Amino acid sequence: MRYSAFAIVREALRGNRHWAPVWRDPAPKPSYDAVIIGGGGHGLATAYYLAKEHGIANVAVLEKGYLGSGNVGRNTTIVRSNYLLPGNVPFYEWSMKLWEGLEQDINYNAMVSQRGVLNLYHSDAQRDAFARRGNAMRLHGVDAELLDRDEVRAMAPFLDFDNGRFPIRGGLLQRRGGTVRHDAVAWGYARAADRRGVDLIQNCEVTGLSIDGGRVVGVETTRGPIRAGKVGMAVAGNSSRVAALAGMRLPIESHVLQAFVSEAVKPVIDTVVTFGAGHFYISQSDKGGLVFGGDIDGYNSYAWRGNLAIVEDVMECAMAVWPGLGRLRVLRHWGGLMDMSMDGSPIIDRTPVDGLYLNAGWCYGGFKATPASGWCFAHLIATGAPHPVAGSFRLDRFATGAVIDEKGAGAQPNLH
Ligand SMILES: Cc1cc2nc3c(=O)[nH]c(=O)nc-3n(C[C@H](O)[C@H](O)[C@H](O)COP(=O)(O)OP(=O)(O)OC[C@H]3O[C@@H](n4cnc5c(N)ncnc54)[C@H](O)[C@@H]3O)c2cc1C
Repeated sequence: MRYSAFAIVREALRGNRHWAPVWRDPAPKPSYDAVIIGGGGHGLATAYYLAKEHGIANVAVLEKGYLGSGNVGRNTTIVRSNYLLPGNVPFYEWSMKLWEGLEQDINYNAMVSQRGVLNLYHSDAQRDAFARRGNAMRLHGVDAELLDRDEVRAMAPFLDFDNGRFPIRGGLLQRRGGTVRHDAVAWGYARAADRRGVDLIQNCEVTGLSIDGGRVVGVETTRGPIRAGKVGMAVAGNSSRVAALAGMRLPIESHVLQAFVSEAVKPVIDTVVTFGAGHFYISQSDKGGLVFGGDIDGYNSYAWRGNLAIVEDVMECAMAVWPGLGRLRVLRHWGGLMDMSMDGSPIIDRTPVDGLYLNAGWCYGGFKATPASGWCFAHLIATGAPHPVAGSFRLDRFATGAVIDEKGAGAQPNLH
């Protein structure tokens, strides 16, 4: 069913009882041209662009739970392209451009809201680093503005500008950044891929990879074996587990990242704000809840449960930058599983097994990458060659030394 103003009015008059299911629920076929493992944002976007851009629609997305049950439905919804390094900027800017046209492309309201992302700085040295980042962005044609303290105060007067330890001196603003409703992204891509003939198969865990003479020929699943000409892995926090099925050991660690939402209040903050003296970011959802988060839990885990040390750390950061938050009650908090790479940047590449492709290492930042990641992974799977904007996201960069150390934190996943 195509969404339109007319369809919404018609269904409202009929008691909303005639909406068709948004995607089919097919049984797996014995064989596909391509199988994508993982029904998160990246897997769904990859299947959609394989069908749309490359005419490869005999594709299955295999998801061990339900579509969107992973990080794509657990993140804090922030999108931006305020990167510094040449390996990253063109990719994230391409993603931003795809966000800007996404809703028309997939005919789905993903609530793309370019409300701005404001990174606060608290010292002269940090201002200089932000000026450098902003200049690098502008050299790549990305919008960036360096604000002084008064300009930040005009945008967000509720912040604590005179905090004794972390006074706010200004901020780096990307006005085109903002938020996108995360699970609508999963649903929108799922619906659009389904309409182009992609099979979306839920409750189907991949438990083995069939490899013959160095080439992948299919997958073993909890719903039986499936043959495939090509297989793409897009399983985020489970990347090391699934790659291990092909005997690969990835330069990736899995960590929990927690997020929080407060009770709903009237509109108080109309942009995304990040604290510069600790790891903390906040925005307000359309329902009114303040959505915020901070650092990953510092130990490796495949669980979705975090621990209280991070809860305390996030709340301390919140109070340091916006003391008024202390008057609100936290409504819910949850965790997701981060695929932390050793330099904080992702991997979209071939693997040593022919026909087996890897999309992983998204760390905290993979939601904003969803459209470009799907676009570039589809390009790689369809053509065998990396897409130009993702050419640096190579798996062998940790062996060659061509790392993309955006944060300058080195090979320390818990610092990215
Ligand atoms: C709390 C939190 C806040 C975040 N905030 C932001 C943010 O503000 N901005 C941003 O850009 N990024 C953010 N991120 C990161 C972002 O959500 C992830 O990087 C991104 O969603 C990962 O890609 P994905 O959507 O494909 O992952 P997922 O949705 O996790 O998809 C992977 C899927 O693979 C499936 N799977 C795993 N193993 C198998 C198997 N063996 N067989 C079949 N299926 C399998 C999983 O069930 C899962 O559904 C955040 C993440 C979290 C957890």
